[in-house]
Amino acid sequence: MKLDTNYKQIREGLSIEKEKIESELKDIASYSAETRSWEAMPTSQDDGPESDAVDLADRLEEYETRSEMVRTLEKRLNSINSAIEKIDAGKGFGICEVCSKQIEGDRLMANPSAKTCKEHMNNR
Ligand SMILES: [Zn+2]
Repeated sequence: MKLDTNYKQIREGLSIEKEKIESELKDIASYSAETRSWEAMPTSQDDGPESDAVDLADRLEEYETRSEMVRTLEKRLNSINSAIEKIDAGKGFGICEVCSKQIEGDRLMANPSAKTCKEHMNNR
């Protein structure tokens, strides 16, 4: 596949989104080089003497929500990284990972990091 202006534009958009997601992640998570993944940071650093069981339950719930958010962002980041890699490699970008057909243009426009065609969008 040739890297034309269109792909450069898409790549540009992807790197902007990548930076955005990374800065969002840095606010709520820290990257572990060991596990090569993002881990949610504790929601409250303030562990004053007044913290009781209710506070603890609240914090656990907040932490759960945050972890969920981190996983969602991380997943998006991974698809973006793999889309960028495919563009840089000059192959595989815009190709459905299930059926190896070209992904529909409108789907790719809406989500440049899509890995599957419309037919297989719920397969992975
Ligand atoms: Zn497909």
